Amino acid sequence: MRITIAGAGIGGLTAALSLHAAGFDEVTVLESVPEIAPIGVGLNILPNAIREFDELGVADRLLEVAVATGSLSYYNRFGSLIWNEPRGIGAGYRWPQLSIHRGRLQRVLLDVVRERLGPDAVVADSRVVGFENRAAGGVDAHVLRGDGSTRTVTTDLLVGADGIHSAVRAAMHPCDGGPQWNGLLVWRGSAWAPPFLDGRTMVIAGDRGRRAVVYPMSVPSAPGEPVLMNWAVARRVEVGTVPDRADWNRPADPERFLPHFADLVFDWLDVPALVRSADRALEYPMVDRDPLPSWTAGRVTLLGDAAHAMNPMGSNGGTQSIVDGRVLARALVEHADPDDALLAYENERRPPMTALQEANRRMGPEVVIDLADERAPAGFADVCEVFPHGELARISASYATLGSFDPDTVNSRPSNAVQRWDTPA
Ligand SMILES: Cc1cc2nc3c(=O)[nH]c(=O)nc-3n(C[C@H](O)[C@H](O)[C@H](O)COP(=O)(O)OP(=O)(O)OC[C@H]3O[C@@H](n4cnc5c(N)ncnc54)[C@H](O)[C@@H]3O)c2cc1C
Repeated sequence: MRITIAGAGIGGLTAALSLHAAGFDEVTVLESVPEIAPIGVGLNILPNAIREFDELGVADRLLEVAVATGSLSYYNRFGSLIWNEPRGIGAGYRWPQLSIHRGRLQRVLLDVVRERLGPDAVVADSRVVGFENRAAGGVDAHVLRGDGSTRTVTTDLLVGADGIHSAVRAAMHPCDGGPQWNGLLVWRGSAWAPPFLDGRTMVIAGDRGRRAVVYPMSVPSAPGEPVLMNWAVARRVEVGTVPDRADWNRPADPERFLPHFADLVFDWLDVPALVRSADRALEYPMVDRDPLPSWTAGRVTLLGDAAHAMNPMGSNGGTQSIVDGRVLARALVEHADPDDALLAYENERRPPMTALQEANRRMGPEVVIDLADERAPAGFADVCEVFPHGELARISASYATLGSFDPDTVNSRPSNAVQRWDTPA
């Protein structure tokens, strides 16, 4: 079976590896950019996705270029601790959570795809711009190159893993409303800086109008050496028309936005100083996509942000795009008819992803920062005066259950590893 994937991001590359591991050997990834560069900033990848990487034999290579996240701490704007929880192994998972640079993650996946599927498995400068399902089965994908030339790729299945602005999604759902903005502007970047706290903590601090997210993505090469630190600061400006896409990811002058974060200076972390020490800051509106009524049309389906772009709360967008590819590969092995397989994949993945998209519109687990600010705008001496016993733990646990990434589910659910019957062992 020929399978064509549009997009060599985290989701598309993992899908390629998953399909190959399941015994599909005619898998091609079409990527729009002429050269895949290690762009992006930090990602936290949750243990449910690291389990998939472990079963694909990639986790060890990722661990070499990442930090095993030890804990997640929420603070109010005065630096008072609202909630701290262990993450990964310390939280009882059999797999770690990783803090990693997106470019490093993509590079490892790209290398492994080329090693296993062949050097030509990923074809750059190939933008999928539309498709047509064929009456006799299969699909024609229309591809545009940078020089303006076009070609048609005929394939048995097309997987749209082409991100939040997915062309495959647009062709499937032409009336879909486009990216939705929640009124937060985000500035993000990375900088070499001394580790803080235990060197493995992800910190989220702020109030109802602002957020700072900071975590290390590397360990020091020697005692006293700096680490690569991810930072993002966000500020609510308005809700309304999403800023023009041409203005997304544009470089921004920190002196223009840092006055809004000047007070986020704690004994152990100086957010403005960290931002100033970065090479550059990129500005980005916090956008998601509306949940879709379906991900599949004929022999075409969606995966990752193309299917379920969500506001970046709770470290789920990339994490879930990894799981998508694994479930898709399993469904294609478990169902002889590809139509049944795509339906099974969608039925398994779409409901929980819709629930996560909706939860993230309510700020996901980060809602504890809003609640702390709402209930104690002048700060607190004792967090127990602000949150009744058990409330914070319940918020965290119910979010994990919603996305099926609580420790019990991740540790004990059946594996997604499968093999086609005709694949040599
Ligand atoms: C501020 C911020 C913080 C985040 N933090 C986290 C986090 O901590 N943890 C987490 O899990 N997620 C996080 N995310 C979300 C995460 O980045 C995305 O969910 C993830 O990258 C989606 O992967 P993807 O492969 O679906 O899409 P993408 O990574 O967008 O990849 C899509 C690929 O398709 C290519 N492409 C685009 N159009 C076409 C086309 N027409 N034809 C062919 N190729 C095409 C693109 O060039 C790209 O290579 C964050 C997002 C933001 C904005």
